[in-house]
This record gives sequence, C-alpha cells and structure tokens, in this order.
Amino acid sequence: MSQHGIGTRCVQAGYKPANGEPRQIPIIQSTTFKYDTSEDMGKLFDLEASGYFYTRLQNPTNDHVAAKIAALEGGSAAMLTSSGQAANFFALFNICENGSHIVASSSIYGGTFNLIAVTMAKMGIEVTFVSPTASRDELDAAFKENTRAVFGETIANPALTVLDIEKFAEAAHAHGVPLIVDNTFPTPVNCRPIEWGADIVTHSTTKYMDGHGAGVGGAIVDSGRFDWMAHADKFPGLTTPDESYHGIVYAEKFGKEGAFITKCTSQLMRDFGCIQSPQNAFILNLGLESLHVRMPRHVENGLAVARFLSAHDKVVGVNYPGLESDPYYELARKYMPNGGCGVVSFEIEGGRPAAESFMKKLRLAAIETHVADARTCCLNPATSTHRQMSDEQLKEAGIPAGLIRMSCGLEDKEDLIADIENALG
Ligand SMILES: *Cc1c(COP(=O)(O)O)cnc(C)c1O
Repeated sequence: MSQHGIGTRCVQAGYKPANGEPRQIPIIQSTTFKYDTSEDMGKLFDLEASGYFYTRLQNPTNDHVAAKIAALEGGSAAMLTSSGQAANFFALFNICENGSHIVASSSIYGGTFNLIAVTMAKMGIEVTFVSPTASRDELDAAFKENTRAVFGETIANPALTVLDIEKFAEAAHAHGVPLIVDNTFPTPVNCRPIEWGADIVTHSTTKYMDGHGAGVGGAIVDSGRFDWMAHADKFPGLTTPDESYHGIVYAEKFGKEGAFITKCTSQLMRDFGCIQSPQNAFILNLGLESLHVRMPRHVENGLAVARFLSAHDKVVGVNYPGLESDPYYELARKYMPNGGCGVVSFEIEGGRPAAESFMKKLRLAAIETHVADARTCCLNPATSTHRQMSDEQLKEAGIPAGLIRMSCGLEDKEDLIADIENALG
C-alpha cells in the first residue's frame, strides 16, 4: 500500500476485506477472545504466536487503524493509544528509565512540556530543553552520557515554530539515539518526518486525524530504521532479555522493524493500559478517510486568515509558517511544500484584555481548548492550556501573554475573515 499516493492510503490502507466481508472496518467491541485450548492461548502470552486475547493489549479494529497510520507515515509498525499524551509518554518511556536524559525542543505543546519537565522528572528522567533554532554545536552540547532520545514537534502547538527535522535527526544519530517527532499539526498528508530522518513519530489523533472533535486518541509509529543493537548498551530494554516474557530480546526476535512497537505494546500497554476504545478507533478511521481532502482546505483558510491579520493595523504580529515574512517560512517550504496546517497565532494590540474582548466578539470562531477541528475555534494559551507555565517559560516557548491561537476550520474563508474583521473593529 505504501507505493500508493497519500490520498489512496488515507482511504484504503490498513484493512482489506476478504470475499463477502464487511467493506467498513468492523468494530470489534469485545474485551476478550475465545480459544479452544490453553496451549493456543499460551503461545500468545509468550509472544510465540500473534493473535488477540485481551483488548488492553491488542484489538483488531485498533490494529487496522494503526496499520493505516503506519502506511501514511511510511513506518514499519504502529499502535494506537488513548490520547496524544499517552503516545508521547509511551514513545519516550519505552526507551527511557530512571537515570535517563532527554534532549527536547523547548517549543512544544504545554501538556508535553509538563509531562517531560515535571512528571517524568519525578520518575528520575531529566531533560535539557533546546531552542528549536539551536545550531548543531548547541545541540551537540545538550547531549549527555545518559541521553536516550531527542524530542520535537514538526510544527509546535501553539508557537508554530518549525523543527529542522534533518538537523535534529543528524544530531540524535551522531549521539546514538533516536529522534522522536510529534507530527500532530501537519499530519502525514503535509509532512512525513521519517522521510527526513526521524525514527519514531507520534500523534494526537484527537486533532486533524479525527478532525471533527469527536474522539480523543493518539498513535505511535516506528520507522523501523533505528538500529537498537548497534547501541545495545543504551537500550537494554530492547536489547537484553525481558524476564516478564521468558527472556525475549525484542530487538533480536522482532528486528528493527518490530521491536519498538512490540515492546511498547507488551510492556507499557500491559502495565499502564492507555488503550483507545475500538469505537473511537472506528471514528478516527472515518476522519482518516478524508484527511487528504481536508488538510488542503485547512491550509487555504489558515493562509488567508494569516494574510488578513498581518495586514491589519490592530495586529502586532502573526505566526504562520506559510507567510513569506515568517521566520520559519524557509523551513516550512522545505518540509511542507503543500502547507502545514490551519492553525495561526497572533498578538493583537492591547495585550491580554484586548485578546479577551476580541474573542468575546467572535461569532463563528468558538472559544475552545481544542484545535484542528472542522469548526474554527480559538484560545488564549496563557490563560488556558499553558497557565501552569511561568512568564519566563512562556517567553522561552515563544508564547506572549496576549497571544491568540486560532484554528481555522473548513468553513468559507470569506466568512472567517468577516468574523475576525468585525471582532477587531
Ligand atoms: C493536543 C496535543 C497533544 C496531546 O494530545 P491529547 O490527545 O490531547 O492527549 C500532544 N501534542 C500535540 C502537538 C498536541 O497538539
């Protein structure tokens, strides 16, 4: 399927019904699966045979949808999680443990910042944040003996900085660790980080992939390219026997293509249980079927709104990597030639109070925590998603207190601009 175009993969990858089987992916709403003998089931528990026994570990509906996302990203294997937060936590914790260190872009989603800087710190995992514009020398200086992963977002939510994926990947590989990229905002329709050297890709499928504000979910995709055995001392979880699975060595038994996702499923999903419900996976797949049709419209509306805002005298600044004047324009053109996403952020004259009164006057754009929905929505990060960050941290992440994040939906751009013009007036 990966030889097909991205649109064909959105519609058809991951599930191929046999003669007389349902055309749409069946929702296997079953916690468990029945076997004729205990021997049959035992093989599954030993990872000697593949199959289903309990939905906390694997479910056929989820696996079809994960296979589609793997095909979209050009990865070797994928899994769904209950949320984007769970996806990023699992992707990191699958290779980090007490005593490990992570290098992460400082320009990332507030929830992920909190996860890494606060919650994972309590687990004994430290982090060094680097600027998304760090030079190669600055990146190299951030690595330590115990660094196990590099993390960044293709287009950061909400700062809209663009990650120089090749540069971050080269630095990660020079230090023998994988690059993990959260590709939520562009989606694989607009950028496929694996093609630029990323090793693991994560998603909050809650956003454009679902696209209709219907289901919270996440996904992890493995490129299948990182050679764990070549850096065996750094990744003992993948390269030494797992006593909880009769001494299986994941990187040996499942190879580069399967080790990461198999370990993540059989250890982390088993122990933490952050599964996506099959019902939500079905809804997610409905979104994926039109992702390639929706993304260009989100980009068209985002660009039109960004252009309108940047010409308005009450607007102090606009962040949108598709604007020629944006500092990330060249990087965006390189990694996302068809555009990035429909999210625009901007600062209006008068700071926080002006932002609040502007948002009250909007009629089409609703105030929501959400982004990347069919319906346009907006939010003031400093008073909502990022309120746990200090002013200093906000500044570092490129988020002034008066910043408004507007997620342009699929409406007519003329109506969105009229709504904004009226609210600014
Ligand atoms: C929303 C978001 C997340 C968190 O995803 P949830 O599905 O809300 O848990 C992670 N990364 C990015 C870039 C996001 O936009």
